Amino acid sequence: MNKINIQGINWDAKSSFQRGPAKAPALIRKALYSDSMNLCTELGTTIENDLITDNGDFNIEDYFDIATITQKNIENGEKLLTLGGDHSITFPIIKAFHDHYPKLDILHIDAHADLYHDYEGDPYSHACPFARIMENGYAVKLVQIGIRTLNQHQADQVKKFDVDIHEMRNLDLTAIPNFKNPLYISLDMDGFDPAFAPGVSHHEPGGLSSRQVIDLIQGIDAQIVGADIVEYNPDRDFNDMTAYLAAKMMKELLGKLMVH
Ligand code: MN
Ligand code: MN
Repeated sequence: MNKINIQGINWDAKSSFQRGPAKAPALIRKALYSDSMNLCTELGTTIENDLITDNGDFNIEDYFDIATITQKNIENGEKLLTLGGDHSITFPIIKAFHDHYPKLDILHIDAHADLYHDYEGDPYSHACPFARIMENGYAVKLVQIGIRTLNQHQADQVKKFDVDIHEMRNLDLTAIPNFKNPLYISLDMDGFDPAFAPGVSHHEPGGLSSRQVIDLIQGIDAQIVGADIVEYNPDRDFNDMTAYLAAKMMKELLGKLMVH
């Protein structure tokens, strides 16, 4: 069994529409460790606290402090699960991962490709992290799933960066390739249909079901070295539905990180 670090990143300053995800990390943890659910994953792995070091939640002053904090939380060679935060956090996280994993594959689940060259003048907006990751050569392979907002600019970026994109409109989950390099999973909660995850800033109907994403993650046969869960916005949630879905995904991801 592998050891895992957890970090929470209280940061939503690069959200283009609504703030709120900075409050998410503590609420995702609270849902997972509430009496509502047990700590056994569907694949039978129990989330064992002696394997997990929770480094707590970090209040971020400067965007690139996220890279410094991540660096500290992976320097012992253990795996890392990050609770976000808006999706801008994934670029500095992957920047830190690149030092340890020069050949990294990324599985990115999202309604949005997040490949803008810049968004409203900000190259580090939550609409841009995967453009920054690819132009810096931080990922060997980027596989995107659930996308349903691809405009011409981002379609051009997909070509430029040779992204393996699986759009929602013709999704075939059996066509997702195998990963040969260490794998990082980035889960934007708006990849789910808003019927399953209303607590996100950008409601984009026609998305993935909870079951599809769980099946996708359970089916991965690769060395998973890190993951993040981003864009949960508590201000838009109903009855903590999205908090509990994020907590369920935290549990299933921790289970995979423990055994793979
Ligand atoms: Mn995103
Ligand atoms: Mn998104």
